[in-house]
Amino acid sequence: MNELMKIASNSSNIAITSHINPDGDSIGSILALWLALKQRYKNIEVFVNEKLSDRYGFLPQSKHIKKYEDVKGKKFDLFFALDCGNEKRLGDGIEIMEKSKVVVNIDHHISNTKFGDINIVDIYSSSTCEMIYSIIKDMGLTVDQEIAACIYTGIVTDSGNFMYDNVTEKTHLIVAELMRIGIPKQDIIYNLYQKKSVNSLKFLGYSLTNMDIELGGRLAVFRISSDLLKKFNISNDDAEGLVNYGRDIESVDIAVSITEANDGEVKLSFRSKHDDVDVRAFAQLFNGGGHKKASGAVLTSTLDEAKDQVIEKAKQFVRW
Ligand code: 5GP
Ligand code: MN
Repeated sequence: MNELMKIASNSSNIAITSHINPDGDSIGSILALWLALKQRYKNIEVFVNEKLSDRYGFLPQSKHIKKYEDVKGKKFDLFFALDCGNEKRLGDGIEIMEKSKVVVNIDHHISNTKFGDINIVDIYSSSTCEMIYSIIKDMGLTVDQEIAACIYTGIVTDSGNFMYDNVTEKTHLIVAELMRIGIPKQDIIYNLYQKKSVNSLKFLGYSLTNMDIELGGRLAVFRISSDLLKKFNISNDDAEGLVNYGRDIESVDIAVSITEANDGEVKLSFRSKHDDVDVRAFAQLFNGGGHKKASGAVLTSTLDEAKDQVIEKAKQFVRW
């Protein structure tokens, strides 16, 4: 931490970013670290790969998050990569990272490749936000109400609402402290979970009706085509979380959603709920990564081909 503070003090500018398709932990950690560093340091840019989705627009100061195009070509003395298991997860941001003098990698993925000059990786942390809380405190900066709201959002979303086994005593102690500081808890929960569209629920109904149950009930597969999203007039964001319904079926060991993306690619999301079903290892077969019970990958494939591959490869991962 001393080294980090020395480097930050000697940096004339700082960049903070996270992975492509940013989630609550990405945006929460970017904003929390930025708001805290701003208390002491100047010239800090925050950005994500593409324009930030409206979904996290409720987070304090989120309108200041730029997109890659807005910072393209800039050189930074200090570059923070948050919640990224590897540098490829940065998307175009990798170009900016490569031009930066010092790269700090702060993350909680077991698959982290330690690509930074300084690597702060804690695989036992519920979220990058949980780590950011401790880093802010260790740097002697203040967790104010805005920062607390951002950190809470990352912890809630990455812990599956405190359900996953990455939740520890420390997680709850930090959340207790965030509540003492004062967070608009109900407002955050409303924004994250209680303002779904009718169309997204109809899409959920359709997808559950048409889900594929394979390998004698042990594997659930959802295929989400661009046409289907268009038909229901919803975005990729609205389809997020679908895979968890598959996971929660009693017989299912692995649930997978396969979503059509651009340029002939599909995005795979993997979920498990058993300690002996490691979907991070499973995701690695597709050059992906993540956590033991939640992982992902990107593949150049059609939906149907991807599904066939998933079924074939899942045979060695489900509990027969
Ligand atoms: P999700 O399915 O919610 O997109 O991702 C679940 C977990 O897997 C997250 O922790 C995320 O960081 C990781 N993950 C998702 N997609 C990828 C990917 O393409 N590559 C790697 N290495 N990790 C991924
Ligand atoms: Mn995370």
